[in-house]
Amino acid sequence: MQSTSHAFKDNARQAVGDPRIRKAMGLMKPGFQDRRARALSRLPEFERLREEGKAIKDHVLANLDVYLERFESKVVEAGGQVHWCRNAAEAREAILGICRSIGARTVTKGKSMVAEEIAINDYLEEQGLTPIETDLGEYIIQLRNEPPSHIIAPAVHLSKEDVEQSFREIHTWMDPARVLAEPRALVNEAREVLRRKFQEADVGITGANFLIAETGSTVIVTNEGNGDLTQTLPKVHIVLASLEKVVPTLEDASTILRLLARSATGQEFSAYTTFSTGPRRPGDLDGPEQFHVVLVDNGRTAMLGTEFQEMLRCIRCGACMNHCPVYAAVGGHAYGWVYPGPMGSVLTPSLIGVQEAGHLPNASTFCGRCESVCPMKIPLPKMMRHWREREYESKLQPAAYRYGLGIWAWFARRPALYHLGTRLAAGLLGRLGRGRGRIASLPLAGGWTGGRDMPAPQGKTFQQLWAERARGREAA
Ligand code: SF4
Repeated sequence: MQSTSHAFKDNARQAVGDPRIRKAMGLMKPGFQDRRARALSRLPEFERLREEGKAIKDHVLANLDVYLERFESKVVEAGGQVHWCRNAAEAREAILGICRSIGARTVTKGKSMVAEEIAINDYLEEQGLTPIETDLGEYIIQLRNEPPSHIIAPAVHLSKEDVEQSFREIHTWMDPARVLAEPRALVNEAREVLRRKFQEADVGITGANFLIAETGSTVIVTNEGNGDLTQTLPKVHIVLASLEKVVPTLEDASTILRLLARSATGQEFSAYTTFSTGPRRPGDLDGPEQFHVVLVDNGRTAMLGTEFQEMLRCIRCGACMNHCPVYAAVGGHAYGWVYPGPMGSVLTPSLIGVQEAGHLPNASTFCGRCESVCPMKIPLPKMMRHWREREYESKLQPAAYRYGLGIWAWFARRPALYHLGTRLAAGLLGRLGRGRGRIASLPLAGGWTGGRDMPAPQGKTFQQLWAERARGREAA
């Protein structure tokens, strides 16, 4: 997927002015936040499970080579094959090679963020194959030629009217007088179209929520059952997964599964949790003849041992973006690449570079909600701060910004001068806002005051109040 992360500011400005995005984002609270809160209120051991999930993933990351090799040997034992891919190009080639080996023409696909990362659909189309998304949200955005705007709800930015319009434009063989006003009618139409595609497909590609080292199984969770049809009907099943998805045992996967659906959609469990181990065996009623796992690194191993390693605990639940005020204001497309929201603000610079994605770690108020809801306890604000430091050290920010920070740091290292300076500045700003209590425009802060007034400081500074409090405590 071609990144526009470098244009985050322009993307965000456009998104903020788009009433469709504002309306769609307004549904995030009842759709995700409230449902998650209700699910958690029914699970008193949620905090304990978070600790366990974190410990499982930390252990895996410390022993990644061991578990990946164990996983591979179990896949082979079950009759499957593992393809190790260092980057997107190798993963695309591996998938194309498998498709070509059976003369495939059509490929059905379950939802997979790694597939977006390696832009597999565009590549297969260029090579003359027809990839068809089978997750409803992914199918809709494929028809519209748009990228996903959320990692678990890729079409969250669209209204049902948008979907109806797309179906009428693309499903031209259907009765133009059909009624599509209700979501159920839209779902039924998509189901009818996709059933035929499932039956025609030569290859099915799914992602994986987990790779289980002790059995060589892959696991996907869906709510539509499309993943099952994608992997059981075609001759060949390809699992496309990034290598940090491995967990040691079935029990470990079960522990994290208890966190996943609750954090993602507020469900106790997703409607379908499907375990796949190798191809069809003699006597099996269905299943693929070939089972391949395309294991993609694409920058992950470079994160190991760095201050960004903890990001590899992510289970792609989407809770951080569902609770992020910045994501809620700009939506997912503004982030410009595969992963939006707070997790994208850490992961995207790790995978495509801070030069391209340096704006993203700055798109945060550091309110900390992302970390507080993350089931894997990933310290997202801390890692965004690390990216800001890297951006500063690489001199990627405008000179005025860097000099400004340098001046601030000079003062901050001289407390007496700093206190005097803040007192004088607060007094000056207080005078500027006298009468109205607000400041309508301010030199060097046009970005802030362009859209709203700045409250004028009133009374004493924080430092003065703090000192008074300390004196009061001493006197008491
Ligand atoms: S960072 Fe945490 S909250 Fe965000 S998607 Fe990953 S696991 Fe979920």
